[in-house]
Amino acid sequence: MTAEPTSPVTAVPVAAATSVPVPSPEASRGHPCFDASARARTARVHLPVAPRCNIQCNYCDRRSDCVAESRPGVSSTVLAPEEAADYLDEVVAAVPDLTVVGIAGPGDPFANAEQTLRTLRLCTDRHPELMLCLATNGLALPDHLDEVAALGVSHVTITINTVDPEVGAGIYRWVRDGRRVHRGVAGATLLLERQLEAVAGLKARGVVVKINTILVPGLTLDGVGDVARTVAELGADTMNCLPLYPVEGTPLAERGAPDAFEVVSARARAGAHIPQMAHCARCRADAVGLLGEEHTAESLGLLDAAARRRAATRPYVAATSMEGLLVNLHLGAADRVHVLERTPAGCRVVDIRTLPNPGGGAERWRAVAEVLSDCRALMVSQAGQMPRSVLEHEGIEVHETEGLITEAAQSVFAGRRPTVRLPVRERSRGALDNPCGGTGTGCG
Ligand code: SF4
Ligand code: SF4
Repeated sequence: MTAEPTSPVTAVPVAAATSVPVPSPEASRGHPCFDASARARTARVHLPVAPRCNIQCNYCDRRSDCVAESRPGVSSTVLAPEEAADYLDEVVAAVPDLTVVGIAGPGDPFANAEQTLRTLRLCTDRHPELMLCLATNGLALPDHLDEVAALGVSHVTITINTVDPEVGAGIYRWVRDGRRVHRGVAGATLLLERQLEAVAGLKARGVVVKINTILVPGLTLDGVGDVARTVAELGADTMNCLPLYPVEGTPLAERGAPDAFEVVSARARAGAHIPQMAHCARCRADAVGLLGEEHTAESLGLLDAAARRRAATRPYVAATSMEGLLVNLHLGAADRVHVLERTPAGCRVVDIRTLPNPGGGAERWRAVAEVLSDCRALMVSQAGQMPRSVLEHEGIEVHETEGLITEAAQSVFAGRRPTVRLPVRERSRGALDNPCGGTGTGCG
């Protein structure tokens, strides 16, 4: 997920908005990221249940998987909601003074709303004593404000890098809203509208809201004060201005991190409008433990065990393919799937399974989930919202991709989003970037 730091709020006096409910300090008591007095003694855990993202930031590359690399957007595994809840049970038993369970990726929680909300429900059922926390880019959050509040989510972080769409066009490669992909100023404008709507909606529901802003030299530094003023007017509670973490191979890497003076100045400008967090310990989407001390051997062991349980119950991945080589078939048009396993020599097809006939709406997709009950993921060139929702509800990730099925499967087995490896001209109609072409063969 979007750069998600952890740091206590330092008190910078600011006029708070008065037209929205103001959470009492009690709301954050014991939260290691919001309560400075709790930072060194209480712990949080992130449940990595949200693999997809609905925007592409030009500073993010989520393909990396390195436990030594503490940065957001990265997780060593992705869990289904029930698996995450079981993992949480173990973390609660093993980690003293755990007060917060959060979802911060490795994609965006609301690009995976089904998994996120189901996971939150399980968390609050099993461990009502824990605070619930989310970190999101905000694009899809307005659709889920009531559910978020009803589930008792107490803290939400939204990354808002700019309130100037012209600047945003340089930060976001694309913004996907449902099946439509927006680029440039149009994409940045849409994202900003949703982010501001989300801040206002959360505050109207009494949720504590933190804003993250990535300080990108030559891009977002100058506008930090405008971001701070805008979100303060909406009632946001605090803000963290984070220096860019240059990730090799991303478009913004060459800009480098801002220097210390630029960071201090930016925080001072923002601090004129809204309280600032002063320290940052970037954390991964699967972080667990005290801030800055994540991934002890014990916590790594718990997460590994959860990943192994997932591998044992769902040892395969499936792909829709016309000829058995490429992921190149819309799910609605598929009458069979190729099932792959991972071997030491790579991935190979071990089965071809027939899918139920088109028609029947959600029932058809529940039947498909039955056919794929031992598969952790399904890779398709495209899929409609209903099948995606039903399959993900049944614990099967749905990835839209193209390319060799064996390479895509390798990525999924490694806990990564499969990447498109075909030249654009060879992709099938509109995969990934465009609205569903609509084959009329059964997404509904
Ligand atoms: Fe990466 Fe998505 Fe988070 Fe941006 S919002 S940093 S693309 S995971
Ligand atoms: Fe802290 Fe962010 Fe995790 Fe919430 S989501 S617990 S604020 S690091």
